[in-house]
Amino acid sequence: MGSYDDTTGDDVDSGLGDYDSAGGAAGNGPGTPAWDADRVARRDDAVRAAVEQGLLAPGSPIVGLLDVTGIRESATALRAAFDAVVAPGTPVLHAFAVKATPLVPVLRLLREEGIGAEVASPGELALARAAGLRPEMTVLDSPAKTPAELREALALGIAVNADNPQELDRIDALMRSAASRSPLGIRVNPQVGGGSIEATSTATATSKFGVALLDEGAREWVVRAYQDRPWLTRLHAHTGSQGIPLSLMAQGVAAAYTLAEEINRRIGRRQIDTLDIGGGLPVNFASDATSPTYAQYARLLGEAVPGLFDGRYGLVTEFGRSLLAKHGTVVARVEYAKSAGGRPVAVTHAGVQVATRTVYAPGSWPLRIGAYDGKGRPKEGPAVLQDVAGPACFSGDLLAEGATLPLLEQGDYAAALDTGAYYFAHHYAYNSLARPGIYGFAPDGAGGIAFATVREAQSLDEIVAESGGAHASSLTTLATPPRR
Ligand SMILES: *Cc1c(COP(=O)(O)O)cnc(C)c1O
Repeated sequence: MGSYDDTTGDDVDSGLGDYDSAGGAAGNGPGTPAWDADRVARRDDAVRAAVEQGLLAPGSPIVGLLDVTGIRESATALRAAFDAVVAPGTPVLHAFAVKATPLVPVLRLLREEGIGAEVASPGELALARAAGLRPEMTVLDSPAKTPAELREALALGIAVNADNPQELDRIDALMRSAASRSPLGIRVNPQVGGGSIEATSTATATSKFGVALLDEGAREWVVRAYQDRPWLTRLHAHTGSQGIPLSLMAQGVAAAYTLAEEINRRIGRRQIDTLDIGGGLPVNFASDATSPTYAQYARLLGEAVPGLFDGRYGLVTEFGRSLLAKHGTVVARVEYAKSAGGRPVAVTHAGVQVATRTVYAPGSWPLRIGAYDGKGRPKEGPAVLQDVAGPACFSGDLLAEGATLPLLEQGDYAAALDTGAYYFAHHYAYNSLARPGIYGFAPDGAGGIAFATVREAQSLDEIVAESGGAHASSLTTLATPPRR
């Protein structure tokens, strides 16, 4: 097995290596330095166009931007990576983990690229349906599904992975009451261990997800569950997310594969016909390089789990962050530039409301900041140590602490890079700060940039309405018991 730990690969053709010296047309495919450089150029063009076209302005000081070209390219790279390793004819469903970027136009774009949806709540299922995803392209995986959710999923024919024995009981009852086309499986936790970020480590000994496979009696229970239910045809494991080394992810997939082989052997037929190997490919937040790539991961799986791709099993994947992160940028105007204790501080409009994880856990979720001038052009000038702060009323509201970049001045723009997943689509309503507008962009074919609205900025009326505005006097008129 290769040594593809975390975000670097040493024996691969597209690591972090000589990214800066890259250029020209050679090898301009997914995951190559030239491909990454094109994405950076598109981003710079989009920031400038957003200022020129008035999306960014003093009265509209923050937007989220999504690179439509880049999203399409990542979807293509994902499909190509698995097409290159699976036996011809193997059914493969790539289901985008909707929680990474829960935006209907994004789901529709991915659908057009042949990517389905992994949903984990009634809201996410509603988004997938609004995007027009067919049930065959949808997988439901949440750890807390209600009976009503399960009934709806089975009625629609959506694939469901049961999280635990109690959920399987509920599915049993539903299967007795009505036939369903839903492919059904069980989620197991191979307990292979965690990565560098506790909160996104799903395969620790005590993770809340799935059936903990190494616990006493658990493996036997899983085998029996399949023996007793001929309609259980899938097995699911999602062993990690950001911070998990690829080798550990591969170990989790290997554990699921080995279990499927054992179950099928003991039942005496290929009852499990599909393995859902989850998502979790980590993203490199340290530079513009795409690393690791889907191709590296697919090759690693082929080496680490011989048999996985030989055509006996259909495959489902559930990548989220790795499909979208590098294609999103939050751009915020520098309202004030000040100095405190000798440290320059740029006070911007992007903080905890759009970068919640970074603000509360900066060590685990550092963001790179790009500096642009008031016209949206990349800022030149010597790198200066500075803080980039958000608009919220607490001192920890920092997008970046001690970042080194050209000095941000009043009227400039600060760009939080690689924020296409789990950032601006995950608004946190601190200080009743408005959800920013989100716009997709693409070259317009005439040398400019065209924008499309993905989500309108939240209005003040919406903020009031979502904060109980329709019930202003509900508490003052509440009937109170007579005083004694
Ligand atoms: C969050 C999640 C994913 C996606 O994880 P990423 O790190 O965004 O790729 C996939 N499957 C399940 C079950 C998840 O909970």
